[in-house]
Amino acid sequence: MEQQQGAEDVPVVYLHDIKRQYTQGESTLTILNGAKLALWAGQSVALVAPSGSGKSTLLHIAGLLETPDDGEVYVGGAPTSQLSDTERTQIRRSDIGFVYQSHRLLPEFTALENVMLPQMIRGLKRSETVKRSTEILSYLGLGERVSHRPAELSGGEQQRVAIARAVANAPRVLLADEPTGNLDPGTADHVFNALMQLVRATRVAMLIATHNMDLANRMDRRVSLVDGQVVELE
Ligand code: ADP
Ligand code: MG
Repeated sequence: MEQQQGAEDVPVVYLHDIKRQYTQGESTLTILNGAKLALWAGQSVALVAPSGSGKSTLLHIAGLLETPDDGEVYVGGAPTSQLSDTERTQIRRSDIGFVYQSHRLLPEFTALENVMLPQMIRGLKRSETVKRSTEILSYLGLGERVSHRPAELSGGEQQRVAIARAVANAPRVLLADEPTGNLDPGTADHVFNALMQLVRATRVAMLIATHNMDLANRMDRRVSLVDGQVVELE
């Protein structure tokens, strides 16, 4: 990597020569084989590839949820492979937001509380987390839904709460694994717009795995996975 000049001169996340294999009994499956990808502040990237090609694996590695067998994940220019689990968790909490295909909200908590939790875990004052969470939920059009539990929200609303939770700690990168995969087209559009609005407003770097070419075409960049490597589409 080049000498660090300023935050915007280095990728927010840089995956370098990532290798990932799964071994089951006698057979070894190579999923990622020298994958490289740079994610930049304020840029949205669509990851479009068939099922089973390694999209989730790549996202988990970029999000420090999984460790590659070889290669390096740089966050803000700094390598992460030699960090302790505690240090990796710290980076995950402060710099990385993750959105899954299913919302994974805690059912017994309200929308507001679900968004507050990651901030409380980081040690913010309760009053501060209430204020920030209310602001983020309002920004995503959920101002009237803060007291609802997940079961009292529509699929699109649940996903927008999950997005609010993912950005609650103002991450530098937002990773979304088929976030609109369970939604009807109209709702998917609404949720997608919320993600794009966040990229513009906060300059977060965003990587979204999706099968939806219409949505992918509205993003800044499109990449795919071919034989375990990242290729640029166009
Ligand atoms: P995608 O998200 O593109 O559908 P995944 O990254 O989930 O692909 O999976 C890629 C391949 O790796 C699949 O063939 C899957 O079966 C395999 N795989 C994923 N996770 C594991 C695991 N923990 N153990 C063994 N194989 C796995
Ligand atoms: Mg997947």
